[in-house]
Amino acid sequence: MIGVTENFRKIQDLLAAAARSANRSRDHIRLLAASKRQPVSAILEAASAGQRDFGENVVQEGVRKINDAARDDLVWHFIGHLQANKTAAVAEHFDWVHTVDRLRIADRLSRQRPYYAEPLNICIQVDVDAEASKSGVAPGELQELALAVAQLPRLKLRGLMCLPARRAGFDEQRKPFAALRRMLQALQQQGLELDTLSMGMSDDFAAAIHEGSTIVRIGTALFGPRPG
Ligand SMILES: *Cc1c(COP(=O)(O)O)cnc(C)c1O
Repeated sequence: MIGVTENFRKIQDLLAAAARSANRSRDHIRLLAASKRQPVSAILEAASAGQRDFGENVVQEGVRKINDAARDDLVWHFIGHLQANKTAAVAEHFDWVHTVDRLRIADRLSRQRPYYAEPLNICIQVDVDAEASKSGVAPGELQELALAVAQLPRLKLRGLMCLPARRAGFDEQRKPFAALRRMLQALQQQGLELDTLSMGMSDDFAAAIHEGSTIVRIGTALFGPRPG
């Protein structure tokens, strides 16, 4: 069986190659290890290889793993659908939330972010292909939400995230990522200081990097298939 360390090195090479072919600096692309359903031992193995950013999509599982890993040099990203009754634990334990899609959630996160912590980094999830998913704000409602989230005192709005339906082929994969990039640019023109496009997974990160992704979220290619 191929281990996490070897996969990590392979992904680093692929990210470097994708950045080169997109004429971008590798330094502007962050690898987020989607560690959901993986054991803490796999997280610690990735951390030993040099990985720092980890993504969880279930609140209780994530909080348990953050506590069990017990390392203050790791950065924890919440990447799952967030219900209002779970926001407090996320505000307390995570560093980033990628999936804000309504003001009520953002408002709760801001009020619940502990005073001793840095502002919580936020990406707004956009429903780039309306037919495929029920998560994410509709593109037509994005500007109003972004301007409101940017006002919340204990949050730092960083940018946008998308989770498009799977597409085959590089050119098809680029389309939703290009759309998200244009939405970010439109918000920047409205005066918002945004620096993050969270887009691209194991199967489509090269296309996302070509469209300006700054955070690729990779699970399977790093950890192997998720345990049942
Ligand atoms: C699981 C997950 C990923 C990673 O998926 P892989 O296909 O395993 O790379 C990325 N983003 C989100 C939101 C996820 O839940």
